[in-house]
Amino acid sequence: MSLTVLMNAGPWLSVPPPGYGGIENVVATLVPELRRLGVRVVLASVETSTLAAEERISVFPDGQFAALQRPYNQVCGIAQAHLAGVVRAVRTRDDIDLVHDHVEAVGLATLAAMGPDAPPALHTLHWDLAKHPALYGHLDGGDRVRVNGVSASQLARAPRALREHSVGHVHLATPLAVDADRRKPPAKGGYLLILGRVNPGKGQDVGARLAQRLRMPLVLAGPVGPYHRPADLAAAGDEARQNPDVRFFLDEVAPHVDGDLVRWIGTVAGQERDDLLAGARAALFPLRWEEPGGTAVVESLALGTPVVATARGCLPELVEHGRTGLLTTDEDELADLVSAAGRLDPDECRREAAARFTPAVMAQRYVELYERVRATAAAAAPPTVPTARLTGAALPRPAGGSGATVGTATGDLLPA
Ligand code: UDP
Repeated sequence: MSLTVLMNAGPWLSVPPPGYGGIENVVATLVPELRRLGVRVVLASVETSTLAAEERISVFPDGQFAALQRPYNQVCGIAQAHLAGVVRAVRTRDDIDLVHDHVEAVGLATLAAMGPDAPPALHTLHWDLAKHPALYGHLDGGDRVRVNGVSASQLARAPRALREHSVGHVHLATPLAVDADRRKPPAKGGYLLILGRVNPGKGQDVGARLAQRLRMPLVLAGPVGPYHRPADLAAAGDEARQNPDVRFFLDEVAPHVDGDLVRWIGTVAGQERDDLLAGARAALFPLRWEEPGGTAVVESLALGTPVVATARGCLPELVEHGRTGLLTTDEDELADLVSAAGRLDPDECRREAAARFTPAVMAQRYVELYERVRATAAAAAPPTVPTARLTGAALPRPAGGSGATVGTATGDLLPA
């Protein structure tokens, strides 16, 4: 297939990520598979990214994650500067057939504003769509910009203007799902694990209280705000409390973390993360938000670890109650489910992951969406007209498109 995609992973973390990194993990999973299918990939990320691609472009020397939860006036320029680099690249080269964007809000707004002569774009919505109502409520990307969700439940709650730009959803995938059903079953420990950034939506406080009540060991793995290690958080002092996730951890979670039964071990990566997840009796997701895509859910299944969770967001799509996990709408019931989770068969989880959540399944679906987005944009594109006749004039409004004026035609043919 001769298709060149500019894959915009954003400026927050390198790809693959050093540890935590949901979106970056997805990009690191998708790109090798796309390239195997013959797609050329130009990766827009940060300089420390090492993922193989036809080309890598970047604005920032390294990941800007630590700035992500700073006040708006300190952080907003970062995503804009990164996007400006992407726009420059798209404008100054003629080989980009499609932009696949993963940058929250700014990516979508910038691509939608680029006008009809820019390449078609697919923007993947990785987050809670109740965010950014001003942007999503009035989106107009014409026929050139489309969005996709990471679960059906996420899109079902999307504002109408966003749904009208949607080409459907693609479930997240993990390389751990490849041959997951053929790996040796892991030896199970007696502990529970919550894997994810520490945040009220992920419910580490609920999990910690539950573990104390059941007297069952619980490991909390993941960053607290920008802090990846307990020692770093301890050394940060009072200033760390400016971060809302740090406040949540210190006020709601830490009182139940005794370093023995309930432990926060910071961010885990690589084999350590996989071993920890594979050895858990259950992966716990005591969610307080509508989980949009659930990378860690898919990873748990791939490693043969049943999921115990509140049935929110994508959980009922990813986990079959009674077979690959146990779900409840009632937080108080979680304790019973945790006790019952040991009866679930880890092989069922691994079989499910191997069938549904492999990189190949995800990449095939994205290739289909790329074709759809390109076909929609091409069908709506204005007819090719010598630009001499258009200089300073309004472009003919494409049927169903947003229309735009161009006053800078150069005498070349406009792209069809
Ligand atoms: N993760 C990790 N180490 C940690 C915590 C999380 O490698 O200590 C990874 C986890 O395996 C998953 C990603 O970070 O791949 C989190 O993605 P998810 O979609 O679960 O959560 P979110 O994107 O909402 O933070």
